[in-house]
Amino acid sequence: MIKFENVSLKSLNTFGFDILATELIEIHSEQDIIELYQNGQFNQPYKTIGGGSNLLLTENLSQLVLLNKLLKKELVSETETTVTVHFGAGENWHDAVMYCVDNGWGGIENLSLIPGSVGAAPIQNIGAYGVEIKDTFESLRAFNTKTGQFRRFSNQDCRFGYRDSYFKQHPGEWIICYVSFTLSKNPQTNSSYGDIQQILTEREITSPKIKDISNAVISIRSSKLPDPKDIGNSGSFFKNPVISKSQLSDIQQEYPNIKSFSINETQVKIAAGWLIETAGWKGYKEGNVGVHKNQALVLVHYGGGKGSEIKTLAEKIQHDIYNKFQIHLEFEVNIW
Ligand code: FAD
Ligand code: NAP
Repeated sequence: MIKFENVSLKSLNTFGFDILATELIEIHSEQDIIELYQNGQFNQPYKTIGGGSNLLLTENLSQLVLLNKLLKKELVSETETTVTVHFGAGENWHDAVMYCVDNGWGGIENLSLIPGSVGAAPIQNIGAYGVEIKDTFESLRAFNTKTGQFRRFSNQDCRFGYRDSYFKQHPGEWIICYVSFTLSKNPQTNSSYGDIQQILTEREITSPKIKDISNAVISIRSSKLPDPKDIGNSGSFFKNPVISKSQLSDIQQEYPNIKSFSINETQVKIAAGWLIETAGWKGYKEGNVGVHKNQALVLVHYGGGKGSEIKTLAEKIQHDIYNKFQIHLEFEVNIW
């Protein structure tokens, strides 16, 4: 393990806020975690950080911060039709996706170019372009910092939901060390979502391979989303709210074009980005922070600002959306 004191987390959060951590420890192995446990480090509150791409840091951190650097990419078993691959939690998510795509193993190619680490992917069951990790997730191995025991979690144990999991509901209890996925050797591609099919058509690809889907997703994401290297952000700041179909009918009286997707017989998912844009926030700027000009769901930091400015802006948007649509927007980003 490597220890640092009074270190800036500016390069470790994609909003780019200059927050100090009193103690930061890079962990490279399960043995490092066991040593920290034996030394009583988990008797106090602590935080685990991966790529810092789903975090809003609002104040200096006096508790121990662990930076997960457990590395591994390994094919652990295979059948005639599937492979099971095992990744260290500290691996970069996109690199893990590329490793699978380049080997012809399908199932996570729609999740190309999502920032962050493999270990954080189960926390909010990352999803994009009609796919979530729960669709191919096999199991994970995690350390319980209260009991000092390792445990295997199956797909069912993780209680995955929309941008949700058992771990999101139990913060500060588990350190995810390894994650496994079962992928297909004869993948069926999924191009039904958003602009993927349009890009394939433009590229005259009629029988897309997983590499084509991955390339299409990378193109769409690169053109639509702000790159944190250029403008600080944490992706979608709010979750898409789920409301009843009867509430939708009421809202449609005033807003017939509201963007909604049926979930089941009684509920619909509303595009939070549509609500924020319709309420007039797209491109809004206040001091050092604002709402992205092309994607209203993404709050941005232009530099020199504070995490608390983003939090204040997010709360203002929350109130405004509630006043206009009677819909509560929930934060997707973790606030520290
Ligand atoms: P961090 O931000 O470091 O941490 C997030 C949470 O996970 C924290 O609570 C942290 O304590 C916990 N955590 C991290 N690692 C571990 C571990 N090993 N053990 C236990 N807890 C841990 N998300 C999507 O779902 N879909 C998208 O399409 C998407 N697009 C994005 C686009 C952009 C431009 C950005 C900036 C973000 C996007 N996100 C998206 C959000 C983000 O990329 C994901 O949530 C990602 O999984 C976060 O990974 P991370 O390693 O950066 O996690
Ligand atoms: P988009 O394609 O413009 O769609 C806007 C919204 O409508 C999305 O929130 C999406 O919900 C929903 N949607 C669109 N087509 C849908 C369909 N066929 N079925 C169900 N829901 C549909 O969205 P975007 O902003 O460019 O993002 C594209 C994808 O990347 C989305 O899946 C989005 O979730 C993901 N993304 C996530 C983050 C993050 O930080 N979480 C950041 C950027 C992009 P879903 O979000 O439920 O898919």
